Amino acid sequence: MSTIKLHDKYFKPYISKDKIAVLTQSMATQIAEDCKDEIPVFIGILNGCFMFVSDFIRQYPTDCEVSFVKLASYEGTKSTGTVSELVGINEDLTGRTVIILEDIIDTGGTLQKIYDIFKNQKVKSLKIATLFFKPTVFKKELPIDYIGLSIPDEFIVGYGLDYNNLGRNLDSIYKITTQQMTNIVLFGPPGAGKGTQAELLKNKYNLVHISTGDVFRFNIKNQTELGILAKSYMDHGDLVPDQVTINMLKAEVEKNADANGFIFDGFPRTTSQAEALDAFLSEKGETINGMIALEVSEDLLVERLLERGKVSGRTDDQDESKIRNRFNEYNTKTAILKDFYTEQNKYFGADGVGDINEITKRLSAIIDTL
Ligand code: AMP
Repeated sequence: MSTIKLHDKYFKPYISKDKIAVLTQSMATQIAEDCKDEIPVFIGILNGCFMFVSDFIRQYPTDCEVSFVKLASYEGTKSTGTVSELVGINEDLTGRTVIILEDIIDTGGTLQKIYDIFKNQKVKSLKIATLFFKPTVFKKELPIDYIGLSIPDEFIVGYGLDYNNLGRNLDSIYKITTQQMTNIVLFGPPGAGKGTQAELLKNKYNLVHISTGDVFRFNIKNQTELGILAKSYMDHGDLVPDQVTINMLKAEVEKNADANGFIFDGFPRTTSQAEALDAFLSEKGETINGMIALEVSEDLLVERLLERGKVSGRTDDQDESKIRNRFNEYNTKTAILKDFYTEQNKYFGADGVGDINEITKRLSAIIDTL
């Protein structure tokens, strides 16, 4: 899940090593099928291809040869300009089936030069196989015979690919991100267990937990202006007005500017809070990674809240009519946020019934994919 830093830039996990293994395996199987009656010569284009070629070759089921080349560019004379030369090609490829192995093809500029050099040798056939391909930026007419995975035009590192020489040793692919934080909205009706789970998850992922309900209660206890204002709403189980809550939330985030990210618990509770949160985070180059909802039926929740009211002393947990009003607020104003985040592909539901640690595991499994 974690974002990494290489030089001055941040990268987040993108393509797992398991997924890469599936891609290399299927490319090897397909190419072997097409080269049934011959021994192909695979030519890896250094540096980026070394991990891919190594894994690919191990999956290749029949005889094959492997070699590597590198395109070196240097300044020639004034009239020749920049000269490109292939370094490392010693084999006689006359009459052979040659398959170029690339880790990634984007514009195709380098590949075109390499392709032309091989075309000039008297090979029987020349093919190109690439693990990753960026179709939207590819500018050449070259035939790409085998593609592991087409990806959007995003800068990626890992599995041999580098950013200014770093990142080649990562065993999976990461993509560049301006986002440095992991921000999670923990969602669910009153009593779903958001506070309990947030406490466990904040330690596990080193995140700051902001519970708007807790901040309000702290202010009420200390009889601040904010507390006095919020109390009248909270006592009835009504929502505190949006602008008051949004300002308070922003102040809490600003207090923790160095955080790895936040678990928002009890916020947002209305569409306008969700919109304000998106706008506020985007000013910082950040975003919500996902809304994780604890799903629990209402009947179970009333019981849970009345039980909690006996120990916590929370007056809004002790009176069934206040509890019902909070559900009403939730169902009429908050539940629609499921759609808000679903539209952004950021909604993840989890069963909130069962053993506390089991539920933490369910939530962690979701967080690990964000
Ligand atoms: P909670 O501890 O999350 O159950 O919140 C307790 C009460 O605090 C709610 O019933 C509301 O009155 C108030 N509150 C907490 N978060 C918000 C919010 N995001 N918007 C408005 N009111 C809130």
